[in-house]
Amino acid sequence: MRLLLVEDDDQLINGLSKALKRDGFSIVTAMNGCDAIIRAEYEKVDIIILDIGLPDMSGLEVLKQIKDKGLSCKIIMLSAKEELSTKVKALDAGADDYLVKPFEYEELTARIRVLERNLNFRQHPILEVGPLTVDISGHIVRCNGEDIELSKKEFMLLKALMESAGRVQTKEALEAKLYDFAEEVVSNSIEVHVHHIRKKIPHNFIHTIRGIGYTIKKL
Ligand code: CA
Repeated sequence: MRLLLVEDDDQLINGLSKALKRDGFSIVTAMNGCDAIIRAEYEKVDIIILDIGLPDMSGLEVLKQIKDKGLSCKIIMLSAKEELSTKVKALDAGADDYLVKPFEYEELTARIRVLERNLNFRQHPILEVGPLTVDISGHIVRCNGEDIELSKKEFMLLKALMESAGRVQTKEALEAKLYDFAEEVVSNSIEVHVHHIRKKIPHNFIHTIRGIGYTIKKL
């Protein structure tokens, strides 16, 4: 997990940086708003800890610019005083959380962990249709809770069909997803993979649309 710390207080930024590194985070720092916006865009950070009181612009303005750029990182705002209007503005502008200084280090890490869990879920979702679940990051397919063994191509094929459950996937679209340009595709390879997958999952889960492709009904 990569964090961007934005704070103009030397002591606070150094102390937090050290502690968070010791806890296993990768840390990028910025001491003003302009630098923060550049680093948020180019350093591939997951979470930004963003102070509201910065020398060149308000942290709220930084937040706004980051959101305008469409960056998907999570943002925890830090504020020197508890002002409801500022808190509301920050959350309205898309901040994920808000902490008032001084705060306990443990409180900050607890909030980081919450955002981390949300991020992990978003990055590694689980597809579920009827009795079947596909854990994309773990490459695990389960039917009624039991693991099913699939080859790599079978996995990719089932995943593609589950992602578009309710819609038809043409054979050509599936081939494009399963094979690189350079790979030679045998003309009936999709049919062969579907045939093998069908032996391992419930009857009639994958429907053939004759002459077009396949579909899985949204259950
Ligand atoms: Ca400050």
